[in-house]
Amino acid sequence: MKRLQGKVCIITGSSGGIGKGIAELLAGEGAKVIIADILEEKGHEAVKEITAQGGTASFRKLDVSDGESWQGAVDHAIAAYGRLDILVNNAGIAFSKPIIDMSLQEWRRVMAVNLDGVFLGIKHSVPAMKRNGAQGGAIVNISSNYVFVPGKGQAAYCASKSGVNAVTKVAAIEYAHDHIRVNTIYPGFVDTPMFDQVCSQFGKSKEEMLSIMARTVLLNRVGKPIDIARAVLFLASEDSDFVTGAELTVDGGEVIKRTFYDDMEKLAKEAAGAH
Ligand code: NAD
Repeated sequence: MKRLQGKVCIITGSSGGIGKGIAELLAGEGAKVIIADILEEKGHEAVKEITAQGGTASFRKLDVSDGESWQGAVDHAIAAYGRLDILVNNAGIAFSKPIIDMSLQEWRRVMAVNLDGVFLGIKHSVPAMKRNGAQGGAIVNISSNYVFVPGKGQAAYCASKSGVNAVTKVAAIEYAHDHIRVNTIYPGFVDTPMFDQVCSQFGKSKEEMLSIMARTVLLNRVGKPIDIARAVLFLASEDSDFVTGAELTVDGGEVIKRTFYDDMEKLAKEAAGAH
């Protein structure tokens, strides 16, 4: 028996990158997936690929920052498949600028997609999941390990992703009685179009950047969409029946390496200076 047989799920930002990886894995486990994204052409391509593999998928245009657009996506799930069981709030945008150079409009755009998108997704999906009675539902929100190791230029991104964790925990408390579990995943660097954007910000080729970033990771490599997808599958399936309000870091040990080794380096320098 497949782990998500008959489950209906909406995955935001799944026309490409991590979201597409999640959609492919969940569809392979028997879920009926709705590819919900602003990118139509790529979304339809993803649907074709999933159906060619024997999965069930459809595309719905969704701007996660728009409440009306969300209601349309949930209505689509009910009309096409009769229910909604799983929501993966994956859509997000990267943005890098020092605080004093950032306009309020730029700050608000990051918040609108990365944080309002998660709030709206939960707000519009929970009523549909409540109709599942004791079967409830599962919501997985994608944050970022930048929350633990913030960098220059990341004020809006880190603030939005920290907010995702707060909303997750409150939603877990509010909807536990409806058998709806809500959890957060913190990915580290993952090789996707968003990662390509980071490479160009640093003026580096992708190969250079992959090698630099791999050195910051305990497991010595940058992540792949499937690494995150496997964690989503766990949190979306019955395997995590007793897990809600939790935070799962999926970064190959990057946060540990950066905090532990940075400290060790400082200590070593201090010790060397003392002699
Ligand atoms: P990506 O840019 O490759 O893909 C993001 C997808 O979201 C795209 O298909 C895009 O069209 C869609 N999208 C953007 N704005 C949208 C909107 N308003 N409404 C609906 N869809 C929208 O990014 P990715 O690397 O696959 O990232 C996926 C998630 O993982 C994001 O939330 C990101 O912040 C997070 N994340 C990524 C990394 C990484 O290194 N790639 C690391 C940590 C966290």
